[in-house]
Amino acid sequence: MKIETAIFAAMISFSAMAGTGAVDDSSSAFAKVQTVGLDEAKWTRGFWADRFELCRTQMLPNMGRLMEGTNYSQFYRNFEIAAGVREGKSRGATFNDGDFYKLMEAASAAYAVTRDDYFGRNLDRAISVIAQAQETNGYIDTWVQLHQRAGETSAAPFSDPNNFEMYNLGHLMTAACMHYRATGKTNFLAIARKAADFLGEEFKNPTPELARNAVCPSHYMGIVELYRATHEARYLELAEKLLAMRDLVKDGGDDNQDRIPFEQQGEAEGHAVRANYLYAGAADLFLETGDTNLWNPLAKIWTNVVAQKMYITGGCGALYDGASPDGAKDQKHITRVHQAYGRNYQLPNTTAYSETCANIGNALWNWRMFLATGEAKFMDVVELGFYNSVLSGVGLDGTNFFYTNPLRVTDPMPAELRWSRQRVPFVSSFCCPPNLVRTVAESADYAYGKSADAIWVNLYGGSTLETKLADGEVIKLTQETEYPWNGRVRIKIEACGSKAFALKLRIPGWAAGASVRVNDKPADFSPQPESYFEVRRTWKSGDFVDLDLPMPARLMEANPLVEEDLNQVAIQRGPVVYCLESPDLPRGMKMSDVQIPSDMKLTACYDRRLLDGVVVLEGQALTWPEGDWSGKLYREFKPQELKPANLRFIPYSVWQNRGPSEMSVWLPRVGI
Ligand SMILES: [Zn+2]
Repeated sequence: MKIETAIFAAMISFSAMAGTGAVDDSSSAFAKVQTVGLDEAKWTRGFWADRFELCRTQMLPNMGRLMEGTNYSQFYRNFEIAAGVREGKSRGATFNDGDFYKLMEAASAAYAVTRDDYFGRNLDRAISVIAQAQETNGYIDTWVQLHQRAGETSAAPFSDPNNFEMYNLGHLMTAACMHYRATGKTNFLAIARKAADFLGEEFKNPTPELARNAVCPSHYMGIVELYRATHEARYLELAEKLLAMRDLVKDGGDDNQDRIPFEQQGEAEGHAVRANYLYAGAADLFLETGDTNLWNPLAKIWTNVVAQKMYITGGCGALYDGASPDGAKDQKHITRVHQAYGRNYQLPNTTAYSETCANIGNALWNWRMFLATGEAKFMDVVELGFYNSVLSGVGLDGTNFFYTNPLRVTDPMPAELRWSRQRVPFVSSFCCPPNLVRTVAESADYAYGKSADAIWVNLYGGSTLETKLADGEVIKLTQETEYPWNGRVRIKIEACGSKAFALKLRIPGWAAGASVRVNDKPADFSPQPESYFEVRRTWKSGDFVDLDLPMPARLMEANPLVEEDLNQVAIQRGPVVYCLESPDLPRGMKMSDVQIPSDMKLTACYDRRLLDGVVVLEGQALTWPEGDWSGKLYREFKPQELKPANLRFIPYSVWQNRGPSEMSVWLPRVGI
């Protein structure tokens, strides 16, 4: 018996370590690219290594203290009370369980890379409490459980979609799969299986009322991942059933993407986190089933998002509040939406919602679309979000967070808005901070992929990769670069087998004029933007590839149908979007005085003392004092003399790290 147990444990350990990422598509029939193992890609030096280190030393421990404590709300404490190891009452938002699971996912990802027992110990402690909190039938949701125990007759499983049970359970499953892969242990996975089995029973014969329970649907991703971890077909069937169940909803609305059946959808509508989680979950199901009824709407919605609804920062969700389908002829179908995608080309800057979770959801969705196709255009969106509207969500201290990510902030603001214009340690809706922690903890996971005889280099950053190709050959490589500050990348083969394989290098859509050299000799072909450039050969240890992605600072303009950006320009260099922030304005100048000459020359220079080290862009703009607008909405236009002013622009993601400020990504252009 002991020997059998040991062998079983060894098998679990082996399968857990064998080539699996946060998304394990190693057995997915419709994946073109497989993820690499959680501990196979590691940041070593540079931008992402610094972010990961901040995550390990600040973001994770600080978030652990906050969620274990009770200063702001209750997260871990709710589990302790539900488990019966502490006295007390439920406190906090209905989705706090899910946000605690995200922290556990992040700690598991960090453990996979660092093997730091600090994470392992804390995870085991939490898992044992969660196991005690779980009902014998598999149900677990501390908000519902504790309110039920307090005698509230209205609190019952799946009686109110706004209890976010599916969201909570989805994150439980994703975190448990991550923990299983990181540690080889099944203690958390067992809880997730029980919970999924509960869902299987509860939703055996779904009614239209039950079908409404898909708010912020992280559970499609979670259950598909559970299927991948266990290879039990009933979990895949459950995920399919729960996605199909959406169509039972009667009188649904765009806010929850259930006004019309999923198959008929072609535009991104409604709450942007809910939408992007739904799209990511549907893409996960497609990776397993190849169902074109999932792919067709996803492809249409994707085109709608990138061509009509996404901010230049990769941000999603233009509106605080609105109506959808706004302006429709058939007015009875118009419903209220919040934190939502707007109309096509409706992309306000000051009142942009662009919730960090929606922007992370956009990356999760595009990552899965990339895995299904191997197409660079999806990875470009992942990268755009990461460097801009995702990382803007966390301060350089790793402990203060934005919930919304506007592209312009003025003082005064044109309207009072719900959320702070400054990063804060806590907001009542605490979904984004742990989402950021897990994203940074897992960032190396996105850097590489593999297929039968190819290694895919998706993100650039100082890193190492050690993985196996399908034939069992071990490939070791290192990547050295100062990306995103500089577009030169060197990839060196440290070890490989004797068979030929391809190195596939992502050439971003903005990278015109890219070049590749292999062992100092120019490649036979020129790389094309928005593609993967393949270098296929029989490699030997010590071979190296140099990629040069030219990164001039570029003035960008928006489609003229975007009213809010009309006659304005933004600045982008490589994948990084820049902004003007008030601490960089010359004395006496206001943000609204600034005009950008169409032929402005921008010089990039690295400032290691500023904002933890960033490339700033410097150039001569023009100013035109706005004068006195007090009490006026309109006035007669009077031309004034434009005066030159030297300005400095900083990466958008690091704005508001120098105290309260004004900021704008888009600025008016003048001249040619
Ligand atoms: Zn959020």
